[in-house]
Amino acid sequence: MMHSQWVTPKANILVIDDTPENLYLLAAMLTEQGYKVRSVTKGAAGLRGAQASPPDLILLDINMPEINGYEVCQSLKQSDRTRDIPVIFISAMNDVLDKVKAFSVGGVDYITKPFQVEEVLVRVENHLTIRNLQKQLQEQNTRLQQEIRDRKLAEEKFAKAFRSSPSPISITTVSEGRFIDINSSFLKMSGYSLEEIINHCVDDLNLGITQEHYASNLQKLLETGALQNHEMEFRTKSGEVRIVLLSAELIHLDGTECILNIVNDITERKRLENEFISLVSHELRTPLTSVIGSLDLLGTGQLGTLNVKGQQVLNIAITNIERLNRLVNEILDLERMKSGKIAMQPVNCNVADLIVQAAEAMQAMAERAQINLVTEPASHEIFVDPDRMLQTLTNLIANAIKFSKVGDTVWLRVRLHTDHLQIEIQDQGRGIPANKLQTIFERFQQVDVSDSRKKGGTGLGLAICRNIVEQHQGKIWAESILGEGSTFHIILPFLKK
Ligand code: ADP
Repeated sequence: MMHSQWVTPKANILVIDDTPENLYLLAAMLTEQGYKVRSVTKGAAGLRGAQASPPDLILLDINMPEINGYEVCQSLKQSDRTRDIPVIFISAMNDVLDKVKAFSVGGVDYITKPFQVEEVLVRVENHLTIRNLQKQLQEQNTRLQQEIRDRKLAEEKFAKAFRSSPSPISITTVSEGRFIDINSSFLKMSGYSLEEIINHCVDDLNLGITQEHYASNLQKLLETGALQNHEMEFRTKSGEVRIVLLSAELIHLDGTECILNIVNDITERKRLENEFISLVSHELRTPLTSVIGSLDLLGTGQLGTLNVKGQQVLNIAITNIERLNRLVNEILDLERMKSGKIAMQPVNCNVADLIVQAAEAMQAMAERAQINLVTEPASHEIFVDPDRMLQTLTNLIANAIKFSKVGDTVWLRVRLHTDHLQIEIQDQGRGIPANKLQTIFERFQQVDVSDSRKKGGTGLGLAICRNIVEQHQGKIWAESILGEGSTFHIILPFLKK
């Protein structure tokens, strides 16, 4: 009790009673219970006090001169500031208490004199509790209404962005890949009508998205919550294949887990890019051939002998021009393969021979790099283009050697299955980060930007390998553990002539 004046009072109570004894009694009783009490003897003063600083509860005598309790209560109920304060009427035993009137003017309860201490306290406490609950409800209500307004605004904004976005957008369910909503840009790009898409699943529509591709995208999305600029193919209703960048995010719609897919059609950009690259490459070919010829001529010494420094400079020039020549040839090779200008020329050959030939071709490079090349061939006839298959194998072996350390081993294995065979090129090199395992098969994609410069590559090798393998209806992929090594797998189906 020592610090009672510092204890926060339970509630503020205003007592309006013209009988000083009553006032004193009530005030003393309530103060003792920890309430903060203000008391006035006149109705008008009570009204002013309530207006100036609204209490939590009012105890109001009915019989008072000038303004009686009913009138005071009525006035309180007319003002916004005091309307919600609970009013408990006080009446003397011999007063004729008009209970109906007491309630109709807005009172919540009444007590009669002489007071029963417990009764007064219980009633006061009850009404304060009710009032508090009411306040909480009101606050909650206001908050909820604000939340609803905010949500509506956000929904409106989203709906507007969804409808008018120039990017094709769709919403699909996570569980079945069912289209729930699409915007007009999506319809325009896909060539389908709304009815042909809505409520249909990605699997049912021939969108050029394989189940495997869809599953791997979904897995990535579920793991990270978002997918960004994932390059993929999209087949329109007319069968045209568009190249798109897909960005996706998980969202909840009416309790259903959904995916918001935003697509960026880059077909035209890609076409221009390819056109530009192949145009430049074509234009570079003639001058390149001429420069190579000139450098070779210089190297023969027919135009005079170069001193040591001159020979060194010439060697640097030859190394670089050869790299440029390789790059131009690979670009053109890839472009011709992609556009179908060069077709595979498959013949029956033995996979064991291909493996041995590839290993022999790379033996010198392996020795220079002090790498052991170990072959584990198996004999089986396959129907492939031997030159292209050798190109693929030597490329993968060259990479394995390039990214290994002195003393490491590179294995070439063949595993036979009933309807296909699997070739594995395994190294103990630096490995490839998980997020690069797929992109390295794209054009000019390298784990480290300096790889092509440092290792003399072009960033096109794997793109070419993938193209060749896919033209044989096969598959190629990489598995790797960083720092421990990588394994490139090729699956080739046993195609019949
Ligand atoms: P490059 O001509 O640069 O070798 P590739 O398309 O053959 O082009 O390979 C692309 C990139 O993939 C390489 O630059 C390298 O970063 C990575 N890579 C390929 N093979 C391996 C491997 N066996 N070990 C580690 N990284 C590899």
